[in-house]
Amino acid sequence: MTMLFPATHGRNLRKLMRDRLPAKVFKRLEDAGRLAGQSGVSAFVVGGLVRDLLLGHTTIDVDIAVEGDGMAFAGRLADRHGAALKIFERFATAYVVFPDGFKLDVATARGESYAHPTALPAVKPSSLEKDLYRRDFTINALAIDLNGRHFGDVIDYYGGLHDLKAKTIRVLHDRSFVDDPTRLFRAIRFEQRFGFHLDANTLGLLRQAAATDLVHRLSGPRLRNEVMALLAEQDPRRTIRRMAGLDLLRFIHPAVTLTPQLSVFLSDLHKALAWWAKQFPGRPVDRALVYFMNLTERLDIAATDAVLKRLALPNRQADKVRTVKERLASTSRVLARRRALKPSQAYRLFAALPDEGFILLAARTKSSHVKRLLTAHVTPDRHVKPSLTGEDLKKMGLKPGPLYGKILDRLLDARLDGQVASEDQERDLAKKIANALGG
Ligand code: ATP
Repeated sequence: MTMLFPATHGRNLRKLMRDRLPAKVFKRLEDAGRLAGQSGVSAFVVGGLVRDLLLGHTTIDVDIAVEGDGMAFAGRLADRHGAALKIFERFATAYVVFPDGFKLDVATARGESYAHPTALPAVKPSSLEKDLYRRDFTINALAIDLNGRHFGDVIDYYGGLHDLKAKTIRVLHDRSFVDDPTRLFRAIRFEQRFGFHLDANTLGLLRQAAATDLVHRLSGPRLRNEVMALLAEQDPRRTIRRMAGLDLLRFIHPAVTLTPQLSVFLSDLHKALAWWAKQFPGRPVDRALVYFMNLTERLDIAATDAVLKRLALPNRQADKVRTVKERLASTSRVLARRRALKPSQAYRLFAALPDEGFILLAARTKSSHVKRLLTAHVTPDRHVKPSLTGEDLKKMGLKPGPLYGKILDRLLDARLDGQVASEDQERDLAKKIANALGG
């Protein structure tokens, strides 16, 4: 059961805030406190920032909860800093975007009631205490007072300080996972990120909820956000293992399981990602998507499509998943032959594969031959183009038609393979190709 601790005003974090937060952020929080006083409301920092400050991590995601009219407060805050303001009336939340790009979230403190489990909660303005009660875990239900002489005081209604010290993830009440099943995934995320453990009651509740079909009722985007957030953690091998252990992978698709083979492969993937980051530092990839592709690798196209639909993956990501699924096996086969490839052949082989697919390739083959090929061809080739365009071919008197595509393709190969190096040489070659093809 939830342990109710008395609200703590004992510990003051002013110094920690000043030392850890960027000076500008600290000043803005002091100013928000002053403004709250002038406006007759109370303002508090809530959420991840409080937890991370106490853990010695730096985050600069600032969430402020206001007892009173938070939206009017956000408006005044934006005015006095020349900041942009975006208000979401329905949710009583606002973004304040300062001229230097720094963003602060403001919300009216509210209690929440759920029309039915998994529905988005309805908003009712309320006290900080109630606002904190609707949060997922005690360590996320801490607040910092910004008001007057209390500036910097930690407010701890639900034992978050104790749990931080004891490295415990604990829900605030027994209906927590039923009210919001995204918390099943969030529990794992925080547990694995911080090396904490789930308190025994919380683990029991999580298992109970995981055994039902509650998660099935989550919308695609909400489920996707949680799954992707788990795969975007520092070491997704751990979050995946934990999801498997708690039987949560089935919510991605029943056929997604952690086989011993996948376990080994995840480690190879981890290494391949590190290799890529070192090799191509200016070319970041969607790490979470790489792990996702790996998790769903054994699924056929139809099952993959079902997953993409269930998670409502945005088109850009879904297209990459499909392309890699369609091309990875054949690309691996060509590479496995270990025949030397001309630069143009390597280009043709790799051109359609997203970077995330290269990483899977590198992880799968573990061969330095493939890594050499990737290093040699991936980066430079994508920028190579023939000098001539369709327009130029027209000026040369060649009749527009499918012939153009063929000529330009061959010109690109010749460029890649170093057979032509100037526009004149391209022109000569274009004529030859046109003659040979009867243009
Ligand atoms: P991260 O570092 O992963 O962003 P965070 O704690 O800042 O961690 P957010 O998802 O940004 O996580 O949420 C901010 C705060 O809002 C949380 O600390 C928590 O208090 C609350 N919160 C977010 N999602 C939920 C949820 N599903 N149920 C209850 N409270 C939530």
